[in-house]
Amino acid sequence: MNCPYCTSENLFPDYETDNAWQCRDCRRVFSVKLHGHLDRGVDRGE
Ligand SMILES: [Zn+2]
Repeated sequence: MNCPYCTSENLFPDYETDNAWQCRDCRRVFSVKLHGHLDRGVDRGE
């Protein structure tokens, strides 16, 4: 996973906030929420 702001991979869980990650490069804390899964057989564009 990469930081959505600076694309760094230097991410660590932020234990003080639910679902949150902290980027050690741009020092942002953001949350990742899973909304579900795509159905199998979705065209991946390959
Ligand atoms: Zn970042």
